[in-house]
Amino acid sequence: MKILVINCGSSSLKYQLIDMENDSVLAKGLCERIGIDGSKLTQKSDEKGEYVIDQPMPNHDVAVSRVLSALQDATYGVIKSTDEISAVGHRVLHGGQKYSASVVVDDELKKFVKDSFDLGPLHMPANLIGIEACQAAMPNVPHVAVFDTAFHQTMPPKAYLYAIPREYYEKYGVRRYGFHGTSHSFVSKRAYEVGNLDPDNSKVIVCHLGNGASVSAVVNGKCVDTSMGLTPLEGLIMGTRSGDIDPAVVEFVANKEGLTLSEMLNVLNKKSGVYGMSGGISSDFRDLEAAMNEGNQLAKDTLEAFAYRVAKYIGAYTAAMNGVDGICFTAGLGENDKNMRKLIVSYLGYLGAEIDDEANAIRGKEVVISTPSSKVKLMVIPTNEELAIAQETLALIK
Ligand code: ADP
Repeated sequence: MKILVINCGSSSLKYQLIDMENDSVLAKGLCERIGIDGSKLTQKSDEKGEYVIDQPMPNHDVAVSRVLSALQDATYGVIKSTDEISAVGHRVLHGGQKYSASVVVDDELKKFVKDSFDLGPLHMPANLIGIEACQAAMPNVPHVAVFDTAFHQTMPPKAYLYAIPREYYEKYGVRRYGFHGTSHSFVSKRAYEVGNLDPDNSKVIVCHLGNGASVSAVVNGKCVDTSMGLTPLEGLIMGTRSGDIDPAVVEFVANKEGLTLSEMLNVLNKKSGVYGMSGGISSDFRDLEAAMNEGNQLAKDTLEAFAYRVAKYIGAYTAAMNGVDGICFTAGLGENDKNMRKLIVSYLGYLGAEIDDEANAIRGKEVVISTPSSKVKLMVIPTNEELAIAQETLALIK
């Protein structure tokens, strides 16, 4: 059985066609610059190689039709007909308080997404267009919505309520939702096997460290807290997002610089994080490490601040769970950067956490990176959000 996974951003569409018999990726691709000059589709397949279509994609409808023709292309395609696609899994940013698990797309789901654009102004409209375009192109297969927020819906009120007037929660649903849920769910489940932990009696912290970054605390498979909030801006320092700051900074800087509220939010989302902190060196951690190695103090301070923030969250979540059995690192930085992992673990001596340098240097696979005598299992677990979405989709259509 083949499942197509669709992830629509405001001007992009990522996709993977996955063979569920062996969880292998038949083809994956990216449509870039949808609605902007210079649109491009790039598809990669181990068997058929790389295929690029440089043609205008004025909207997501056109992008979806390009994806389907690329998948069926006589030379580069991996299927003969869309009849081979059994279902489509759609990544949806926000499920609000309504959706705590994936659902088969129906009118109610589409109405919810349409009514919730303000929860994710960049992603939610694109998510809806992607769903409707795929439904129009493949009306006879089930479509499933998989939410970034769903895994975190098990958080108790003490973790998700903000200390602001209650009416904002009641009237507008202002609360912590959390994101990267598919990744936190996938990685915490793999941790039981990789770390030999008891799924029914374990406390796990997942550090999803990529361009966007978040931490979650998981007790017996259920999320009890996470660092992102109403939007993906709260919590850790990220590539270009500030994470936690004193909210009064917004008005203070806006007044000094003559910026509007939305311009300030743009600064916090797109010009802050390690990029802003380092004085604009880069949002990419590889560039920052290179700069640090050449003696750049700003880059060094920035990387230290990033690690320090992650370590503080690990401490907070250990307290929240009254202990921790496993700590997992995942996503671009978490999976690939042994120096950053080592720096973070250097704060965890009080937990009896010990890193094994040799294991920590292994790349690209699931591995325990703590020593046998470490009191906490430290693990690297590559995330696979597309496979997780495909598995959720399969579970719902069975
Ligand atoms: P997202 O999906 O949020 O865009 P990823 O999970 O793909 O992000 O992570 C991308 C980030 O991972 C890059 O910005 C880069 O900083 C970091 N990264 C990837 N490989 C390495 C590496 N070898 N060393 C350090 N950082 C890395």
